[in-house]
Amino acid sequence: MLDVLVVGAGPTGLFMAAEVARHGLSCRLIEKALIASEKSRALVIQPRTLEIFQHVGMVEPFLKEGRAVKVMHLMSLDEELASLHFSKLDTAFPFVLSVEQSKTEQILTQVALSRGVAIERGVEFLGLQETKQGVRVRCNHTQKGIEEVIEARFVVGCDGAHSAVRKTLQIPFEGKAFPSLFSLADVKLEWERPPGEFFVFLNPEGILGAVPMTGEQRYRFVFPQQNAELTLQEIQEKMGPHTRVSDPLWMAHFQIHTRLVKTYQSGCVFLAGDAAHVHSPIGGQGMNSGLQDAFNLGWKLATKDPSVIKTYTIERRSWAKKLLRATLFATRIIALKNPLFIAIRNKGIHFLLPRIEKRLISSIAQLTIHYPKSKVVKTGGGMRAPNVPVGKSDLYTLMRGSTKPHLLLFGIASSSLSPEAVVVPMDHKEAWERYGIKKPTACLIRPDLYIEAVK
Ligand SMILES: Cc1cc2nc3c(=O)[nH]c(=O)nc-3n(C[C@H](O)[C@H](O)[C@H](O)COP(=O)(O)OP(=O)(O)OC[C@H]3O[C@@H](n4cnc5c(N)ncnc54)[C@H](O)[C@@H]3O)c2cc1C
Repeated sequence: MLDVLVVGAGPTGLFMAAEVARHGLSCRLIEKALIASEKSRALVIQPRTLEIFQHVGMVEPFLKEGRAVKVMHLMSLDEELASLHFSKLDTAFPFVLSVEQSKTEQILTQVALSRGVAIERGVEFLGLQETKQGVRVRCNHTQKGIEEVIEARFVVGCDGAHSAVRKTLQIPFEGKAFPSLFSLADVKLEWERPPGEFFVFLNPEGILGAVPMTGEQRYRFVFPQQNAELTLQEIQEKMGPHTRVSDPLWMAHFQIHTRLVKTYQSGCVFLAGDAAHVHSPIGGQGMNSGLQDAFNLGWKLATKDPSVIKTYTIERRSWAKKLLRATLFATRIIALKNPLFIAIRNKGIHFLLPRIEKRLISSIAQLTIHYPKSKVVKTGGGMRAPNVPVGKSDLYTLMRGSTKPHLLLFGIASSSLSPEAVVVPMDHKEAWERYGIKKPTACLIRPDLYIEAVK
């Protein structure tokens, strides 16, 4: 029987398929669309996602295609209120990477293919039924007009915000829509500001974000919009006479929804990505969260241990809940209309941001995600395992590509027992400090680079 059937070949489904294949499970990936979308959509890849991509051996094509953005400026008209420097991040990737989602999907498609999973296009999920062995899925080959039944041990619904898998399972998608409409426009921009830097204008007449894209002078504008008609002229007026806006490649409106499922699992069926959570695009978190759902679930499915698999919902849903709250709060703050509140907000940003810069950028970069309440983590576990030098190498390099947990031994002689043991010598002060360890200790590191247990 097939191990895993993945429904939907967006970024989450593509990475899910690539991950379960890397862990040695058999996998099929079905997608109802006949061709891939060419829309840019999600632009930002966060540092934590880049760490994960490096771990699984696919970061290079992203670095080649993308544009590293190291600074975000928060402006009020021409005055800088504060700036966030991603270069201060504690990671091998101290920047956010701007890459169009269409390119991200192309790379992920190649990775999935190299691991033996091709996208089966024109195949639509219709319904499912749980059996003793797993799940029986009914799908439709839309062009041939024939139905197929696929039996799989596990099914992962990565079929987006309108997920048919979620609806079939009758899992409510609780939440609401944000009242304002937002617009986006991918344009060419000629201005005197430094290239490749992120600008957010918190002007009295409204907010406007300008995210650098790949390509000469290309930017994504995002801003709240009253009506559903947007013209280039309107954007030009927002930017004033010293900036020239031209060549729009994509202009669209969207409504922000904040919604989360009650559970990510029903028996042998799972939800991941937009199928499980949707929220404001502020901070570029959406696609990254879906990718990290896939990374979290992949190794757990490979264990085939129900008690480990069960922690997927506990870990990823608790993080999503916090994310939804934070992005909704930030969206409310940026969408303020009252001039008095706008003035207070801007003063607050000017005062507060430099004081919380490191904490804020680490959180945006998704480096602070942790799972302290998970059942899979034992005493002291649940945190992202910091990368530390070990001998002539470092922990992440030693674990690269591995599907197994590792044992990090501080001041304890190497053990021949499985899992792999990595000894941290006494004189590796940096490693001892970063793990906050003062006496001989063993740390069990999970295959997804989280600390599972400390003893
Ligand atoms: C206009 C716009 C702008 C955005 N901007 C940003 C941004 O700046 N930053 C950010 O982080 N996010 C952004 N997002 C959100 C981001 O695009 C999503 O978070 C991301 O695409 C989620 O990936 P996913 O794979 O979970 O779902 P999706 O990308 O929605 O993929 C789901 C896939 O499942 C397929 N499918 C659906 N139903 C079925 C079925 N019954 N059978 C088979 N296949 C099916 C669909 O065809 C689709 O290919 C934006 C989205 C939009 C629309």
